[in-house]
Amino acid sequence: MIKIDDALGIIKNEKIKIKSVRVELLNALGRLLVSDIKSPIDSPPFTKAAMDGYAVNSSDKSESFKILEIIGAGDVPLKTVTRGTCIKIMTGAMMPEGADKIIRVEYADEANNRAVPHRKEIKSNVIGKAENLKTGDIVLSARKLMPKDIGIIASIGMKAVEVAEQPVIGVITTGSELKDPGNRLKPGEIYNSNGLQLCAQIIAAGCIPKYYGIVEDNRGKLSGMVSRAFSECDIVLLSGGVSKGDYDFVPDVLKEKGLKILFHRVAIKPGKPVLFGRKDNVFAFGLPGNPVSAFVIFEIFIKTLLYHLAGLEYKPALFHGRLKRDIKRNDTERTEFHPVYTYREDVIPIKYHGSSHLNAMAQANGLIMIPQGAGKLKAGDYVDVRPI
Ligand code: AMP
Ligand code: MG
Repeated sequence: MIKIDDALGIIKNEKIKIKSVRVELLNALGRLLVSDIKSPIDSPPFTKAAMDGYAVNSSDKSESFKILEIIGAGDVPLKTVTRGTCIKIMTGAMMPEGADKIIRVEYADEANNRAVPHRKEIKSNVIGKAENLKTGDIVLSARKLMPKDIGIIASIGMKAVEVAEQPVIGVITTGSELKDPGNRLKPGEIYNSNGLQLCAQIIAAGCIPKYYGIVEDNRGKLSGMVSRAFSECDIVLLSGGVSKGDYDFVPDVLKEKGLKILFHRVAIKPGKPVLFGRKDNVFAFGLPGNPVSAFVIFEIFIKTLLYHLAGLEYKPALFHGRLKRDIKRNDTERTEFHPVYTYREDVIPIKYHGSSHLNAMAQANGLIMIPQGAGKLKAGDYVDVRPI
């Protein structure tokens, strides 16, 4: 059994060639940007009005201003503002020559083609050329693209971006007791939740799932399915059958297929039996069958691999809050991830009786880590929460 950090180190140590592809912005959400984006333009490209109003020169203390012309966003001013004159301007329009300030429309009356301020305008209400960005500035560094990032990239005129190719991730669920949802259970059977849960985690991580369904605990059948998945996927996830039971064939079958086991068993709770290996350019994970274990292992290890394959480091944005109740445990051998509900500063541990208790996760919006060796986290302690 190795420590979590050592297991993460092994994943991050794997050398791989990042393949990237250009995608249109409409298809770029959730994809991993592989390199920095520099702005090809100044933003804004010209000095512009931030308010509807009257463009004047700030040194001009005239009591009223003759309106030379009216310009809207997209217009180019034809006149130059001189003493005693102004140009009526709308938000977003290009500032005219001679003007450096806008008296907002609410602060002036208009009569006989003149603007007469009745209140002092203390702000300039102008956005300078390149005030937001200069040509060549780094706009975004490599990251998972979120909706605001798509807006930022569009704002500098780029219609496509270079992102990591989406790995195809195969999901094989092993277990003779499993039935897919929609079927009637016979005695001894349970529903397969890992299959669809893992596919959902794969999609949410911006990758492509390939679901192979259920394989019963049969060496030959598993072997056939693993061969197929290895030839069709970049990463293969197998759930169940990775422990030490008589019918846990996953480790042996993976070895038979030529997988080099890079780690098997990690000091993590839930999820200790997890296995990770590689064959040529295909990676495989054996995940414990208990659904909370499979979920947590995806969060901790598989996401790390997915980012690593794109040349990035997976760093979830942690919340920070105060534990509402003590958490105690006797077995301190492993680092434990515990579901919590976080609201504002409060981190409330969810009552949860182990890795098969999937529905406890319904109330959780995060996981907290109880470090190896720690028997207790005290109410009032500050903890980091990993959002889920
Ligand atoms: P295993 O890792 O195969 O020993 O399975 C551990 C526990 O998880 C057993 O109670 C299994 O019935 C259950 N389990 C295994 N696979 C799944 C699955 N795909 N969905 C839900 N529960 C599962
Ligand atoms: Mg099993």
